[in-house]
Amino acid sequence: MLIDTHCHLDFKDFDPDREEVLKRARQAGVGIIINAASSLEGSIRSVELAENHDFIYAAVGIHPHESPSSDEKAFARLKSLARSKKVVAVGEVGLDYYRQTVPGVTQKEVFRKFIGLSKELSLPLIIHDRDAHADMLAILKQEFKSGKADGVMHCFSGDAAFLRQCLELGLFISFTCNLTFKNAANLRAVAREVPLDRILLETDAPFLAPQAHRGKRNEPAYITFLAQELSNIHSLTAEDIGRLTTHNANKLFRLNLMENAAIAYEIRDSLYLNITNRCTNDCDFCVRSSTDFVKGHNLKLEKEPSLEEILAAVRNPDKYKEIVFCGYGEPTLRLDVLKETACALKKKAKTIRLVTNGHGNLINKRPIAGELAGLIDKVSVSLNMDSAAKYNKRCKPGFGGRTFEEIKRFIAQCKAAGIETEATCLDLPETNLKKCRAIIENELGVKFRLRRYNVVG
Ligand code: SF4
Ligand SMILES: [Zn+2]
Ligand SMILES: [Zn+2]
Repeated sequence: MLIDTHCHLDFKDFDPDREEVLKRARQAGVGIIINAASSLEGSIRSVELAENHDFIYAAVGIHPHESPSSDEKAFARLKSLARSKKVVAVGEVGLDYYRQTVPGVTQKEVFRKFIGLSKELSLPLIIHDRDAHADMLAILKQEFKSGKADGVMHCFSGDAAFLRQCLELGLFISFTCNLTFKNAANLRAVAREVPLDRILLETDAPFLAPQAHRGKRNEPAYITFLAQELSNIHSLTAEDIGRLTTHNANKLFRLNLMENAAIAYEIRDSLYLNITNRCTNDCDFCVRSSTDFVKGHNLKLEKEPSLEEILAAVRNPDKYKEIVFCGYGEPTLRLDVLKETACALKKKAKTIRLVTNGHGNLINKRPIAGELAGLIDKVSVSLNMDSAAKYNKRCKPGFGGRTFEEIKRFIAQCKAAGIETEATCLDLPETNLKKCRAIIENELGVKFRLRRYNVVG
């Protein structure tokens, strides 16, 4: 499902065929649309649209070009409109110095008032910023004393430095279909720097139609062009982008979409199996301590799945480049289930890979590589560091000081058992990459792979 987090379906551009536009959006996979308002009248129409369509939500606000109309009466009316359950944001509001039609001082005063309204209503802000980066940052920093703002910088048009500041403020970043323009190389370079847990999709329709329809009216169905462009930028599939941006929008706009825990989940052309959340390490960098979600998948299991539940979740094992026992928890803690699953999938799966912390021998109190051979084609062992001391400090293994050496022993045994083995090292500041590579390649004789800290999946 895709969410168009910002469009203007209330504009008269859509009067002739609004319902047709909505139908095409649904057919293209747009599950939710958030209609952003530009004026008081637009806010009224936005709420009406949302109340008449299940899958449309509304934002109420006044565009900076219309700031002079933001008097006390208008604010009171917006406040009462926001009582609708379908209102999920205040926006679009902000600063626009491009045309200079409204004095900056008026825009700033009104924008501050809208920030106040969003706080009062506990609704996130949809922020419009054009050619006003410095004033925008100054106001956000002053108004959000905690240093964290609640909102999205819509139709992002800044450079990398502005992006960094927006991210520091905790803002989500949303791109429109102008990311697909031939001459948008700079914007695409900036989009590459946005963490995947902060990106949102929007069309800003009727404006900014994608390259393929440039110059024509934009509409929510064209958000697929944007998802495709972002998937190229981030080396993911359009489905991955759809899922993770939907998760982000759900989080920011408090849409209360159900996101059930995934036993089997797709990323790119691989299928990952989530069979346990337990682990024998307590790494201070573990993604499990900061989020339940990886690339938009909820991985927090309510209970560990049975063999039958795992196989039912897999459905088409032959569809994937590889099936991976994932590392959101240590799979060898459930060695029997792991082996039975691999055995059941063996014939149809192209490749089966195990991602492990390498504690399997310690956990099962016996060497297990021989048992995995023939069932598992590849194993990726997280050695993480170049010394036992560093490993013990950051990973706090439940098996104590001997663990690092035992992981190395496990890696050697996997190789000896004929399993295609790689060991990974984490690019933490204290890691001596040269030393780590030497241990992995020279001492253990297996493939070295560098893993980026904080990037999972
Ligand atoms: S080994 Fe992996 S799953 Fe276990 S605590 Fe460390 S990072 Fe988390
Ligand atoms: Zn805007
Ligand atoms: Zn807009």
